[in-house]
Amino acid sequence: QKEKLKIFKNKQSSTKDGKVIELAANIGSPNDMGPVIANGAEGIGLYRTEFLYMDRSTSPTEDEQFESYKVVLKQMGKKPVVIRTLDIGGDKEIPYLNMPKEMNPFLGYRALRICLDKKEMFKTQLRALLRASQYGNLKVMYPMVSSVEEIRQANAVLEEVKQELTEKGTSFKDFEVGIMIEIPSAAINSDALAKEVDFFSIGTNDLIQYTVAVDRMNEKISHLYSPFNPAVLKLIDMTITNGHKNGIWVGMCGEAAGNLKMIPFLLGANLDEFSMSPSAILPARELISKLSTEETQEIKDKVLEMSSAKDIENFLNEVVSK
Ligand code: PEP
Ligand code: MG
Repeated sequence: QKEKLKIFKNKQSSTKDGKVIELAANIGSPNDMGPVIANGAEGIGLYRTEFLYMDRSTSPTEDEQFESYKVVLKQMGKKPVVIRTLDIGGDKEIPYLNMPKEMNPFLGYRALRICLDKKEMFKTQLRALLRASQYGNLKVMYPMVSSVEEIRQANAVLEEVKQELTEKGTSFKDFEVGIMIEIPSAAINSDALAKEVDFFSIGTNDLIQYTVAVDRMNEKISHLYSPFNPAVLKLIDMTITNGHKNGIWVGMCGEAAGNLKMIPFLLGANLDEFSMSPSAILPARELISKLSTEETQEIKDKVLEMSSAKDIENFLNEVVSK
């Protein structure tokens, strides 16, 4: 099986009828690059930068961050690298930030909310990103966005940092700025959000938990946590449609992107980029090569008519076991 997949390593990802798709990888640090190259990823769809801040006693300096971004950008060359700004809180804690204990950390002070509050920390990361932009094909992504105001505020900070660098004579390259769609309000309001950004990346890990009100870490209720939940699938479809309507590309970097049973639906919904753990890339590329656009559109239409997560999962399981 492994041998058979090897022929897909250096192939472009495309459907049976030739529609080109991008299959990218998720990483948490430059140390994860080995499997990315070994599995022929066409880009990095999610670089989770919070790991640079974890397991230490102070924030990483601008230079440390710059080096960690630069090395990945250089290694990927012309291929896109989506770097996500700090996404802490929720299940990821950072002791030196002295964050108060909260009743509902997943609904609390986290991610972009912290960055917009601790502006100097956010500016340090943006400066490191801007400086690193010259070394490859960088795209920057904000996590946990729920409204247009947050995008505008974050972009205003980015503009401020650009201005300061320009005044100092430090050069940087222009890059796309996008957001994660992982909160139901963002998916529902995606037509408006799309007008503010260059791309969307759907974060199903959080989108599922917030849509069905099921803590993604709670094993007792994990049977209710499903990417096949019809409400989740409708939000995904809506987000992609609204992104395209506004001329931006739409990817997915949650676990669902690498789930073989989800792929026919996502292809049918016209997802442009799938970002997953590196080991999922070759099986996904093989599956995509066997599916046609027309067939996946029919699958998507049929799935959106269905009302039960279990039925949808069974139906998609049949599709991929054929
Ligand atoms: C997500 O929520 O789907 C996601 C990719 O982000 P994280 O898993 O880091 O919360
Ligand atoms: Mg998330």
